[in-house]
Amino acid sequence: MLESVHLVKTFGDVTAVRDVSLGIKPGEVVGLIGASGSGKSTLLNLLAGLLDLTSGTVTLNNERVKGPAEQLVAGHPHIKLVHQEYQLMPNVSLRENIAYALRFYEKRYQTYRVEQLIQLCRLEAIQHRLPRQASGGEKQRTAIARAIAEKPAVLLLDEPFSHLDLPNRELIRGMLLDLVRNEKTACLFVTHDATDALSISSRIGILQDGQLVQMGVPMEIYRRPYNAYTAQMTGPVNLIRAKYLPLMGIIHAYPPNALACVRPEQIRLTDRGRFGGTVRNIFFKGAFMEVEVEINRFVNLTFLASSTEKIKVGQLVGLELSPESVHWMRGSA
Ligand code: ADP
Ligand code: MG
Repeated sequence: MLESVHLVKTFGDVTAVRDVSLGIKPGEVVGLIGASGSGKSTLLNLLAGLLDLTSGTVTLNNERVKGPAEQLVAGHPHIKLVHQEYQLMPNVSLRENIAYALRFYEKRYQTYRVEQLIQLCRLEAIQHRLPRQASGGEKQRTAIARAIAEKPAVLLLDEPFSHLDLPNRELIRGMLLDLVRNEKTACLFVTHDATDALSISSRIGILQDGQLVQMGVPMEIYRRPYNAYTAQMTGPVNLIRAKYLPLMGIIHAYPPNALACVRPEQIRLTDRGRFGGTVRNIFFKGAFMEVEVEINRFVNLTFLASSTEKIKVGQLVGLELSPESVHWMRGSA
């Protein structure tokens, strides 16, 4: 188990990581979601022992992970970090990049393991190319293959999906899930885009200004976000001030400026709606549409409609929202 307790990192007067405590077990995928500058890369570097911490501790199976100031070679043999820029050696092939990670092993095992990794990471066809002749997805897969070559206990990934198209993201998602299941690797990745995190993580955490503001199972965080930032980082959302909710038939005892979170899929289109408005925008998303409705001068609501629904901009629609689907947030920001 990889664990951090009250982890802090400051650069001059910037606090990049504030009091982060978390644990990742073998066979678990954890995704941390945070905006740019929220401390994601710094946190990963601290967990990997690649950066000296300001205070707190990082341990792997109860043994402290040392920072670069405490040892000759930075890093930990059982914790591997895949950087956002892949950091492959530019002048040798993808295959040789992977083999390099196994250079201290006997030749026969090295060849066997490289073959296995190339298959696992679907690199058969392009293994002899140089990094500059490979696509982003291929380089990402090579970087992952190299990182898992020695079967690390912990795999850390910095924005592994951010530069990839959908087929490559699905491929990497599948690879990570296989790895975690088959090798019981503990896997932690950071991202600014919740889509992949919600679908493959057993738990997700939200990083805001270096702080881990909420951690839990994806559905719980999606439905019951701690604050507006968490709500917005995890998907489309309607943030509604308490004073406007009676308009929608929701009677409550919250102060006028309290913030409620209503996910678009909780609002239903109906002829017998308690309230309604004028359709202002329709965003086609494939299987469904996001429909923006102006309820009054102060409130716009987004709801989801099936793409088969016939809705036009300018049309009046009736809506329905059940009181149970309104989540009141505790945090303000
Ligand atoms: P993220 O990966 O979420 O975008 P980072 O961890 O890169 O965020 O950065 C978090 C904060 O720490 C930012 O304000 C950034 O400017 C600052 N920071 C990161 N690395 C350094 C550094 N080496 N020196 C000074 N400030 C840094
Ligand atoms: Mg980063």
